[in-house]
Amino acid sequence: MFGLLGRKLGHSLSPQIHEKLGDYKYDLFCKEPEELDSFFADKSLKGYNVTIPYKVNAFNACDELSQRAKKIGSVNTCIRRADGTLYGDNTDYFGFSYMAKKAGADFKDKKVLVLGSGGASLTVQIVARDEGAREVIVVSRTGENNYGNLNLHYDSDIIVNTTPVGMYPDNGEKLIELSHFEKCTCVLDLIYNPLKTQLLLDAEKLGKNFANGLSMLVAQAVKSAEQFIDKEIPETEIDRVYNELLKERRNILLIGMPGSGKSTIGRLLSEKLGRSFVDTDEMIVEKAGKSIPEIFADNGEKCFRDIEEECVKEISKEMCKVIATGGGAILRERNRFAMLENSVIIFLDREVSSLATDGRPLSSSEEKVKKLYEERFPIYKSLADFTVKTNDDPQVTLNEVLKCVF
Ligand code: NAP
Repeated sequence: MFGLLGRKLGHSLSPQIHEKLGDYKYDLFCKEPEELDSFFADKSLKGYNVTIPYKVNAFNACDELSQRAKKIGSVNTCIRRADGTLYGDNTDYFGFSYMAKKAGADFKDKKVLVLGSGGASLTVQIVARDEGAREVIVVSRTGENNYGNLNLHYDSDIIVNTTPVGMYPDNGEKLIELSHFEKCTCVLDLIYNPLKTQLLLDAEKLGKNFANGLSMLVAQAVKSAEQFIDKEIPETEIDRVYNELLKERRNILLIGMPGSGKSTIGRLLSEKLGRSFVDTDEMIVEKAGKSIPEIFADNGEKCFRDIEEECVKEISKEMCKVIATGGGAILRERNRFAMLENSVIIFLDREVSSLATDGRPLSSSEEKVKKLYEERFPIYKSLADFTVKTNDDPQVTLNEVLKCVF
């Protein structure tokens, strides 16, 4: 009865979100431009969402529009009324406003810098102005305000990314150096894959408030669902669905000393949760075509770390995985950023005297292990969302990890 109209929808999260919101069927309608006229004329659908690139087509196809849709000039929600006419609304407006509030952003009297000038940028600009922004600056690659004169706007209070820069599979890319924006207190990125873009990771590191686009996606869906089922949905539902999605999608990534049980616990977790398990040490061995002691002996530690960085970057882009990382993977900042993109991070902390030493080039004796532990402990602690003291019984450790994650 309901669904989503777009062109390429393979990775859409909307069916998952709507399944959590109500007892109705929600399909994906992937259409080519020449199929749009017949789609908009089809009266069998009671309502649907519209996404890239058809929001303006939907705007033009509607018989009546909400004030918000008129203001924005695009429609993301269509409702077929009893008399057969098509009504269009734009619930992205509410979605963005909700996302901003979630991050503690208050636009009143603020200078807002919006990166990108496409459809989503327009929604962001209108919400910011409606909520009292003093000034809204749009940065466009080809506009008066562009990436070559950003210094004119280092005094911005709130920054919003509405470009696809940093989105999967181009994780790690960014358009601005956030440290220049000393007055900025809040950064909002409409992207939700990865959950934390490099821009948001920078915001987190600099102690600024931030939010990703997942809350906007869920909030707009809730406002659309209300119109589909003609019933108010409490705002608490947005957080419930958001938190459920986050738990379902985030990787569980294990860090800790060599021999602390990451592979064992990782495998148990993957069995318990029905998720696939990836051990970055195994990825390295496969990439290099030789064992880790052989890589150290033949090519040295730097070569090992370079391959490790490739593996951490590659696997951290994925979602819904259980990942065990090598003990030293936390040493490079680029790896730490990658780990933080999509994962909840668990530090498995095992007594130094119980750590295994066999076949491990950097921790081959108890003395070496102790020194490494002292060096790495502060990094493990600062990176981890949770620390779990490992127990000799893996099932006990597994239960502790599960308590942290769910
Ligand atoms: P769009 O209409 O294509 O606009 C994107 C804008 O980003 C372009 O107009 C362009 O602005 C800028 N841009 C594109 N590539 C760039 C690059 N390589 N470097 C710098 N700037 C670039 O797309 P949209 O519909 O506005 O969506 C934009 C983003 O928001 C997407 O990532 C989308 O997934 C996300 N989004 C999220 C939600 C949500 O619910 N979370 C909702 C809507 C959209 P200039 O040409 O002016 O530079």
